[in-house]
Amino acid sequence: MPWGVYYLIQAMTSVNIQDELKEIRNAGLYRRLRRVENGQGPTLLLDGREVINFSSNNYLGIANHPALATAAKEAIDRYGCGSGASRLISGNMTLHEELENQLAETIVYVHCDLGQLEEALKQAGSCRRKLIVTETIFSMDGDEAPLTGIVELAEKYDAAVMVDEAHATGIFGPGGAGVVSKLGLVDRVLVQMGTLGKALGGFGAYVAGSQALRDLLINRCRSFIFTTSLPPAIMAMAMAAIDLVEREPERREALWNNCRLLSDGLKKMGFSLGEIQSPILPLIIGESDTCMRLSEQLLERGVFAQGIRPPTVPPGTSRLRITLMATHTREHIQIALDAFKEVKKQS
Ligand SMILES: *Cc1c(COP(=O)(O)O)cnc(C)c1O
Repeated sequence: MPWGVYYLIQAMTSVNIQDELKEIRNAGLYRRLRRVENGQGPTLLLDGREVINFSSNNYLGIANHPALATAAKEAIDRYGCGSGASRLISGNMTLHEELENQLAETIVYVHCDLGQLEEALKQAGSCRRKLIVTETIFSMDGDEAPLTGIVELAEKYDAAVMVDEAHATGIFGPGGAGVVSKLGLVDRVLVQMGTLGKALGGFGAYVAGSQALRDLLINRCRSFIFTTSLPPAIMAMAMAAIDLVEREPERREALWNNCRLLSDGLKKMGFSLGEIQSPILPLIIGESDTCMRLSEQLLERGVFAQGIRPPTVPPGTSRLRITLMATHTREHIQIALDAFKEVKKQS
């Protein structure tokens, strides 16, 4: 490329990037990365300070459990680190199939508005294929989708249902199989996807459904066909995590107890919080700068609860997204409540 053109492009992009960053800053929406210097637990070494972590999806506290680490180490010793290729070439290992079998055994519009969903289904009447896609536990508010109603509408209007159980896997239903299992809807939901990276403490994701769906995805799903398969340690960790979740239901009990403890304490202070539907407690603040200030004031007191603002949530509904873990202690919760109390007094 001639130098003149190179410089022209460089100048143009740098100007545009700076302008765009300035706009983001002016709108109070600038984000930066925080650095974590230890393992994922109820406390973190965050930017050089120890803080209590209310900003994690590691709900059951197993991301750094020795059982997962041991499984990963053994998998590395046996299978090595990389998986070498996509699953359709030479990257389909015994472990991929074992994990799939384990997951299969535990199988895991308008926001929650069934009336509007029904209208949409009527409008789509002439379409050949209709698919309703919903999260089961919504990631920002932690509320639960009215899944039984959704499935009934789908059946009435000949539509299929696909759910994202990202924030439900490991927490709801028998053995942590998810909301679909909890509600007994396994046979009536076409596609159940979930993640291995949140409550299961590892990485990666899965799709569960019928054998026909599996065959179709293997033949048609571009991200499956062209992506390097998951490495051995990841699968071994996920299997160890599923075992832990099934074997230790007390982790879920501890999680709900911690949710109640924090929620009751916050409500007593006059904060408005809805019913607990999941380990995600959304404390709606309103304007993004007020919300981010509150988050910073809590962090100064060693309590890390991430502020969430537009475009992740609608304008005027910025919130502290407080997430609980099974491994928070009573003392952690008390320190958090004390910090909220002080911050509230100051505002
Ligand atoms: C986190 C999340 C995902 C992505 O899961 P990863 O394993 O992090 O890729 C998908 N859907 C929802 C609703 C999520 O919150």
